[in-house]
Amino acid sequence: MQVIRNKILQCLYDYSNNDEKLIAVLGDVAAEFGPQAFPVIFHVLTHLDLSQPEAQEFWQEICLHRREMSNQLGHNVNLRTAICDYFCSIHKSLQNPKVVEIHVFENTINTAKYDRLTGLYNRAYFDESLIREVARAKRYNTELSVLFLDIDNFKAVNDNHGHLAGDSVLKDLSQAIMGEIRAEDIASRYGGEEIVIILPETKKATGLILAERIRELIANLSLQYEGKNIPLTVSGGLANFPIDSCDAMELVGFADMALLKAKALGKNNIQAYSTNKRRYVRIDFSPKILVRKISIDESAESFTAHAKNLSLTGILFRSDSPCFAVGNKIQLQIPFEDFNVSVLLLGTVVRIELAGTDQYEIGVAFLEMDHTPKNEISQYLLKKLGQKIM
Ligand code: GH3
Ligand code: MG
Ligand code: MG
Repeated sequence: MQVIRNKILQCLYDYSNNDEKLIAVLGDVAAEFGPQAFPVIFHVLTHLDLSQPEAQEFWQEICLHRREMSNQLGHNVNLRTAICDYFCSIHKSLQNPKVVEIHVFENTINTAKYDRLTGLYNRAYFDESLIREVARAKRYNTELSVLFLDIDNFKAVNDNHGHLAGDSVLKDLSQAIMGEIRAEDIASRYGGEEIVIILPETKKATGLILAERIRELIANLSLQYEGKNIPLTVSGGLANFPIDSCDAMELVGFADMALLKAKALGKNNIQAYSTNKRRYVRIDFSPKILVRKISIDESAESFTAHAKNLSLTGILFRSDSPCFAVGNKIQLQIPFEDFNVSVLLLGTVVRIELAGTDQYEIGVAFLEMDHTPKNEISQYLLKKLGQKIM
C-alpha cells in the first residue's frame, strides 16, 4: 500500500498543473498495481475510505463526468472540481462537503511526506517524526535507535556512470531498505545519499543486528543501470535513546559520528556510537583467558575461543568455528583464572568477520545494554574492578 501511495503522491507532485496527464498517470498506477490502487487514489484525493469495487466504479464515472462537464462548459474542468461535482450532484449519498474540499487535496500535495526520487520519507517529515518518537519513548519509557546510513564512494558512481545512473541505483537501494525494515520504522532521505532510519522501541543490540542486515543486503544487491552492474556498499552509525542521548538532534549527531568511525574503519561497516570517556570497564585480554563453553540457541557446543576484549556492553572473541550467524543468541562461559570464577554471558552475535585464514572475529552484544548493568558479568566486573575505572 505504501508503495502505491508513494507513487500516487509522486504523480500529484509531477502533474499538479496538468490534470489530463495526472488522470492518465493515475490510470497507469492502477494498471501497474491492479484495482487495489483505486481505494488508495480516493484516500489520497478525498480521504474517503471506499471499497475496491466502489472506488473503481467512482473513478471511471468521475473521469467520464469530467469529460462531459468540459464539453458542456467549453473548457477543461479540473479533476478536483469534477470530484466535488460528482459527489455533490451525482452520487449524493456520499455528499459531504468536508470530505472533498479542495484544500484537503491541495494540503495533501503540500504536506506530502515523501522524497520524490527514493520514495523514502523526506527530511521535513524525518525532523518532525524524530521529535515525536523521542517524546513517545520518554513517555512510555522505551528505547529508540537511530541509524545513519551513507553510501560508500557514491561520487565515483556519478563520475563513472553518470548522474542518471546514480539516481537510479539510489532509488533501487532505497526500495531494498524499505523492504527490510518494519512498518513502524521511519526511513528518510536525510541528505543526498544519506538515509537515516528511526527505529522505535529498538535496543542498541537489536538496532545493530538490523543495521548489519541492511549492510549485508546492500553489499549483495545486484544493482544495475542500462545493463551495467553498479555494486554499492553502505556504512552506518547507530545511536540509542536513552543510552547515548535523550535529545533528538544530538542522537542524529552521535549516529553521524559513529558513521564517521565506520568510514574510517574502511567503509562497508557499521558502528555504534560510544563515548570516548570510558564509562565502562574494558579489558584487553591476554590469551590465557578463554571462552570455554558456547551454546547457540540452546544447542550446546563446547569449544574454546580466545577473547580479545570485553566491556560491560559486549565481547569480541576469536574462534575457528564458522557456526555463528549475526542475530544468533548465544551463551558464553568465561572462566576468570585470576579470580577463580566462571561467569555466564548471554548475548547476541552482532558481527562476524574473517580474521586471517579460518579464524573469525565474533562480536557479541549483551542483551541488556543500559546504564544499569543487569547481566552477571557486568555485575561481577563492576564489583571486582568497576570502582577503579568508573
Ligand atoms: P564516502 O564513502 O566518503 O561517503 O564517499 P562519497 O563519494 O559517497 O561521499 P561524498 O560526500 O564526497 O559525495 C557524495 C556524493 O553523492 C556527491 C554527489 O555527487 C552524490 N549525490 C548526492 N545526492 C545525489 C543524488 O540525488 N543523485 C546522484 N546521482 N548523486 C548524488
Ligand atoms: Mg554523504
Ligand atoms: Mg557517501
